[in-house]
Amino acid sequence: MKMIQENFLLDKLNTFCVPAKARYYATLEHVEDLEELLSAMRYKDLPFLVMGAGSNLLFVHDFDGIILHPLIKETRLIHEDEHDVVLFAGSGFNWDDWVTDCLEKGFYGLENLSGIPGTVGAAPVQNIGAYGVEVEDFVVAVEGVDLTTGEQLILDNEACHFGYRTSVFKQKGSGSFVVTGVIFRLRKVPEVNLSYPQLAAAAETMRNPSPVDVRRLVKEIRRQKLPDTSVFGNAGSFFKNPLVSKSVAAALQQEFPGMPFYPQPENMAKIPAGWLIEQCGWKGRREGDVGIWKTQALVIVNYGHATGEEILAFSEKICKDVDEKFGITLEREVQVV
Ligand SMILES: Cc1cc2nc3c(=O)[nH]c(=O)nc-3n(C[C@H](O)[C@H](O)[C@H](O)COP(=O)(O)OP(=O)(O)OC[C@H]3O[C@@H](n4cnc5c(N)ncnc54)[C@H](O)[C@@H]3O)c2cc1C
Repeated sequence: MKMIQENFLLDKLNTFCVPAKARYYATLEHVEDLEELLSAMRYKDLPFLVMGAGSNLLFVHDFDGIILHPLIKETRLIHEDEHDVVLFAGSGFNWDDWVTDCLEKGFYGLENLSGIPGTVGAAPVQNIGAYGVEVEDFVVAVEGVDLTTGEQLILDNEACHFGYRTSVFKQKGSGSFVVTGVIFRLRKVPEVNLSYPQLAAAAETMRNPSPVDVRRLVKEIRRQKLPDTSVFGNAGSFFKNPLVSKSVAAALQQEFPGMPFYPQPENMAKIPAGWLIEQCGWKGRREGDVGIWKTQALVIVNYGHATGEEILAFSEKICKDVDEKFGITLEREVQVV
């Protein structure tokens, strides 16, 4: 293990920019380095937290364990035919750089996921999604190491148990498995996905939008809607969009005409959490250094020197109001550490 640092400051390594420290912070450049870390007595019995770019984490305390930060930056072409390519990408790549790289090489599919902060390794953990696409649609397999046994594993798409912003890796807990790389299948023939209404509207005047056009439009929509993390600390959507049965959604719509919902498989419906929060009067509201972003009610912002605890307390007030008004319990997308 090249770099293990003690009492490591995380303030600038989480996009909420809240103060926190890790007892140990280890960077991982090669899978082989893990063996040393896992066998060293001094680290035995300490919990792990695998951390990419810290863009979906909220630290409310210091972390009394080992933060493992993958920096693996290897790519491999595994297979190519006239339609598709199968590629390996190390977990340490910046996600958006990887998307750019693929597009520049003429490998398509990830363009709708442009501009999402974070790393390649976190993408399958979170099953990142945006503008009508989820990464699970392109993941062939995930490579990694079980941190409880040291065993190297390759999980195929089915074994990843992908769901809405979740996967087997997330369900097992953030210290039990480190993703070292992801195998993607991408298209060589451009085929754009404009199923997301806002994206379709933005592309309306274009004759034949290419994947590169889609990336540009997605980045523009994101720029208009979301705060710039280099100016305002945030972690994107703080809450998930709640899933309820279609009958519950229909009953709620009777009571709250205008409430949007989107039918999902198995008689379920997704209700936009942002709409629920907005109806409770929270959009744009600010208390001290914590607030809700003015153009996106799902995003909680650190306007200056808020602590993780203050952000969490603010989020809990929102949950309480939504629960009282709609009888819906919001689930956090952001992971609290
Ligand atoms: C402005 C903004 C906009 C966003 N927009 C979107 C969006 O449109 N769609 C979307 O889905 N998300 C979005 N997010 C959330 C975030 O970008 C994603 O969740 C991203 O995948 C997190 O990547 P990360 O490397 O920062 O992971 P971290 O925040 O460091 O970690 C997140 C989780 O993944 C685990 N993890 C990270 N790396 C690994 C690894 N190599 N092996 C095992 N576990 C790992 C961590 O333990 C943790 O549980 C947004 C965030 C921000 C700040």
